Amino acid sequence: MWLNVLIVVLSAAAMEAVAAFSHRYIMHGFGWRWHRSHHSPRTGWFELNDLYAVVFAGLAIVLIAVGTAGVWPLQWIGAGMTLYGVLYFLVHDGLVHQRWPFHWVPRKGYLKRLWLAHRFHHAVNGKEGCVSFGFLVVKSPEVLQAQLRKRARPTKAAAAKAPSDAPKASPPAP
Ligand SMILES: [Zn+2]
Ligand SMILES: [Zn+2]
Repeated sequence: MWLNVLIVVLSAAAMEAVAAFSHRYIMHGFGWRWHRSHHSPRTGWFELNDLYAVVFAGLAIVLIAVGTAGVWPLQWIGAGMTLYGVLYFLVHDGLVHQRWPFHWVPRKGYLKRLWLAHRFHHAVNGKEGCVSFGFLVVKSPEVLQAQLRKRARPTKAAAAKAPSDAPKASPPAP
């Protein structure tokens, strides 16, 4: 029993690393076609980027199905993925992007830090030059602001190539 609980917790924690890695190298890489919708103003209830949640949920369902069919401990890894999915949805879609029917922005503490970090991610309107790819484990606002400032000072060649891509040094208003 306790071993299974441990597997759920460790799987959820590992998912933060998986999510940050996929966000940086897949969504802001070859998977940008789906993720671009998330860096543009949303026009309806859903965005193409939501398909990533569907893919991860599908994976968790398969793990739970195979695990309950007898392949321990896949069901508990699937449960950890699901737990992470719920936390991710609450923080990312709820808290930061306010996709719930009320408006609440944290004023202090860990939740404020998460909120700020992801606003900094959205301070750059494009595939390149973004900071803060994690969701539940994030750097301090000061560090992220410094990273953005550094990227906002492009070399002359880069500035000439893409003048409109220069990231802003502060997060946009919610
Ligand atoms: Zn992104
Ligand atoms: Zn976002």
